[in-house]
Amino acid sequence: MTVGVDMDSILIRELEVYAGHGVYAEETLRGQMFLVSAELIMDLRTAGLSDDLDCSADYGRVCHFIHDYLRQNTFLLIEAAAEHLAREILVSFPQIMELELEIKKPHAPVGLPFACVSVKIRRGWKQVFLGIGSNMGDKERYLEDAVDRLKAHPLIRDVKCSEWMVTAPYGGVMQDDFLNGAVGLKTLLFPDELLAFLHELEQKAGRERKIHWGPRTLDLDILLYQDYVSDDPELTVPHPDMGNRRFVLEPLSKLCPNLVHPVTGKTIRHMLQDLLR
Ligand code: ADP
Ligand code: MG
Repeated sequence: MTVGVDMDSILIRELEVYAGHGVYAEETLRGQMFLVSAELIMDLRTAGLSDDLDCSADYGRVCHFIHDYLRQNTFLLIEAAAEHLAREILVSFPQIMELELEIKKPHAPVGLPFACVSVKIRRGWKQVFLGIGSNMGDKERYLEDAVDRLKAHPLIRDVKCSEWMVTAPYGGVMQDDFLNGAVGLKTLLFPDELLAFLHELEQKAGRERKIHWGPRTLDLDILLYQDYVSDDPELTVPHPDMGNRRFVLEPLSKLCPNLVHPVTGKTIRHMLQDLLR
């Protein structure tokens, strides 16, 4: 994968699909023409050098995939058609990292003269790093079960784990040592959706929220979500405390030492060196 270079793309323009999406019964019954354009954003360097189709995404297959999907499924809104189709393309063609998808409806029943109406969305696999920890019961089992559940999620892929490290507890509450680590993954889930899934995993591990910074069977935090920055207390990203926590930076620096933190502008390795100084 090329690093620090703009991604290449394959363009599909105005693929014609006769299908039955729409709010009105007549639209579903009679159907109408939709025009689908897609920009498949991916690294084409290897395919370019090797002249090997397996290194690219076969645009012929992508066109048939779009055509079949829009004929086999029916949506009221082209927003929903685009959302679901984008997800299915990204899951089915793993070389495509990001996708811009436009669905035009030139004959939408508006009752006024117009050229076209369309919906355009951009979706893609986002690189995420999680902090994971446990300090109750069979800690290793809790961490490994959580990793297995992350791997099993259809919208999560490329899950990689650091080694687990034993850490003295943090925050002044008397409790058992922690087992901590970092997990890297790519996901199609949006930040709030990913957080909700992490909370589900914590609940499945029987976590009870009694004392802040108290003992827990499983703690899953979003450290970094691509280069997204948010100060929302429900989901602060990058994680505001990561620069002060050796048990976060040490395992994280095993996974992505050269990744640049979007707020400090420092690499993870550099942040760890600063903390240990
Ligand atoms: P902590 O991880 O700080 O020990 P909790 O796991 O109990 O505390 O999380 C408390 C709340 O922190 C969660 O309900 C969540 O909404 C919020 N939160 C804010 N930012 C993040 C983040 N980056 N990752 C996970 N939770 C976060
Ligand atoms: Mg947490």
